[in-house]
Order: sequence, then structure tokens, then C-alpha cells
Amino acid sequence: MDAIETLIKRLAKLPGMGKRSATRVALHLLSDKDVNLSPLEQALAFARENVVTCEVCGNLDTISPCGICTHKHKDASKICIIQSVGDIWAMERTGFYDGHYHVLGGVLSALDGVTPDKLRILGLLSRLDNVSEIIMALGATVDGQATAHYIAEQIRKTHPDITISRLAYGVPIGGEVEYLDDSTLATAMKSRSTFSS
Ligand SMILES: [Zn+2]
Repeated sequence: MDAIETLIKRLAKLPGMGKRSATRVALHLLSDKDVNLSPLEQALAFARENVVTCEVCGNLDTISPCGICTHKHKDASKICIIQSVGDIWAMERTGFYDGHYHVLGGVLSALDGVTPDKLRILGLLSRLDNVSEIIMALGATVDGQATAHYIAEQIRKTHPDITISRLAYGVPIGGEVEYLDDSTLATAMKSRSTFSS
């Protein structure tokens, strides 16, 4: 039982998985190891070998700088600041944004002990030359907005000419960017407004 229990415990730690789903998945994987478990093992090993974090924006890709940072038709003068890599996927799905991204890796939170040095803020401040617009897409949570204000302040110290905007209509209060439906996110990106602190 130990091996199965260990697998279930490990699976239950994955996002969106409870003990019940973890048990179902574990038993499914083990019911036919060749068909269900081996391909997953290979995919995990392959991802582990090949996926890296982009040294510029923090995206996950098989190359660094990533496919977005090196894309010929992406506008490098715009940087959209988001909380996690999942937000890039959400934003790219809308097809309404042609600029670059910067993954913070979280938002500031006094409660959870997330201080500015724990986020990729210095990396952002070091890539502001030749940037004309920063778009804050951090979600309409208290922590998300506080983080946006903090970053805007830092940017204005060295690059006062950069336009700082943020997502507008469509983002629900308390909402996370990653979980918005495509049209809501697209509307929010189109109707972004100038950031005021
Ligand atoms: Zn990148």
C-alpha cells in the first residue's frame, strides 16, 4: 500500500487536485502501467530535460530567451506584467496583444511574507530601455493592485516617460487573470487605461 499511498499524496499536491481526484488518477495510472504510466513518465522526464525558464521574461520554454522574447513580430517596446506563466498562455489565447511579457512570479503580500526581493522586479527594471509602455495585468485583488502601484513607482524613478497602463473593464474584483474567459480578457486588454497611483 505504501507505494500507492505515496503516489496519491504526491498527486494530491498538484494544483486543482484533491485527495479524491489524486486517488482516481493514481489507480488509473497503475491499472495499466505500460499504457498509462510509462508515457507520462517519459513526458515528465522530457519536460524536465528540455523546459527552461526564460532569462529575460520568466516564461517557460525550450529555449532562453523564449519564443516570445525572440519573436520577430512581437513588439518589444511593450511589456505586459503578469503574475504567472499561466497568464501568458491566457493572454496569448486572446490574440489581442502583440508585445512582450514579464512574469513576476507572484504578487507582494505582507500576509504571506512576499517582499519585493522575492519577485522578479529587478529583472523588470533592468529591461526598461527602449520600452514605451508597461501594461499591468495583475488581477483586481488588493495585493495585485498594491504590487502594480509599487512597480509603477519604481519604474517612474528611472523611466518617467514610459506610459503605464492597466487592464480595465472585465476583470472582476478578486479575479485572477489566468481564470478569465477569453472574451473578458480580450476586452480588458483592449480597454486598458493609464495607470494612476
Ligand atoms: Zn522570454
